[in-house]
Amino acid sequence: MTYESAIEEPYNLHSFYMPSLATICFSTLSLSLCNELSTPKHHHRHHYPNYLQKVWLRYNSYRARIEMEKPGSLTASEVVIDDPKSLDKKKSAIRNAGPAKLQVIADFDATLTRYWINGSRGNSNHGLLQQENPEYDVKRQELFDYYHPLEFSPTIPIEEKTKLMEEWWEKTHGLLIEGGVTYDAIKKSVANANIAFREGVVELFEFLEEKGVPVLIFSAGLADIIEEVLRQKLHRSFKNVKIVSNRMVFDDEGRLVSFKGKTIHVLNKNEHALNMAEPVHDQLGDIDGPTEDNAAVKKRTNVLLLGDHIGDLRMSDGLNYENRISVGFLNDNIDKSLDSYRKAFDVVYLNDASMWGVVELASQLCSSGDD
Ligand SMILES: [Mg+2]
Repeated sequence: MTYESAIEEPYNLHSFYMPSLATICFSTLSLSLCNELSTPKHHHRHHYPNYLQKVWLRYNSYRARIEMEKPGSLTASEVVIDDPKSLDKKKSAIRNAGPAKLQVIADFDATLTRYWINGSRGNSNHGLLQQENPEYDVKRQELFDYYHPLEFSPTIPIEEKTKLMEEWWEKTHGLLIEGGVTYDAIKKSVANANIAFREGVVELFEFLEEKGVPVLIFSAGLADIIEEVLRQKLHRSFKNVKIVSNRMVFDDEGRLVSFKGKTIHVLNKNEHALNMAEPVHDQLGDIDGPTEDNAAVKKRTNVLLLGDHIGDLRMSDGLNYENRISVGFLNDNIDKSLDSYRKAFDVVYLNDASMWGVVELASQLCSSGDD
């Protein structure tokens, strides 16, 4: 069965795992459509205008297609909003406070980058690195195979798991130094990597730069690689975008010799990220002029948070925020996880969606008009 024949099949709008008609719309449409969808007059299918029916048809065939086709070929993108009223309230509060009060905190892997690329899983920033001595790539993969299941084990207590994650990161960093990494190898690895930003990321950064809104990218990966990915894939730098991640130290010949500061791993990137970000905040003076210091940035008490794991919500823990809108990209295990994601995040994007919905959201948050 093809996509075309799938959409002609009889459909039932309530037959899926979706919470309710009122809370769903599509990222290809305006977020404000969600409000439209949630009004009673739209509760019957025959009231939908033609284009919405088409969208519903596309959505309805989504599950069939996910089983039929390679994931990378999926094109429909959906957004689930559990509580549109609460989201609207937060949007108004943030808009009224203005862009000077706003900051964006984003996870990197599978949040800013795509989960699927041409039908296969995209690389993580850590995973793409190819060392001088390829035996060390194998050794790091072996560590991954051992520790990654432990990361997701539901039976290991958090203290023990934290120790295991520290162990994993430190061993990995050790192998990077031992097996050799040069800055040139990073450039080559990024050029060869299966990694791509979601569509709309560059426009999001450009828009936020224009509005003077800082973007902090938190990652348990490697800052130097993330910066190189930004350079190679976005072809420009953004003065408002700062990376909070593990940073390498190179010698005069461009060889990795050590790492700076405390290791940021998957379980502490959140709790420590903002403190680690303090010196980063200090560098943000070029956004609002040289007078914006750390304390001034901390006055940015409205947050737009982007993540792909529920744990990413903790990226704003170090901040005493007034309003936070959280956007979650649910990339995998949709059946199992949608319920917890839609409760945890204000907005959930399914199906490896583009960033266009977030671009629109950001422009609504920064608009000074009366919309
Ligand atoms: Mg991620």
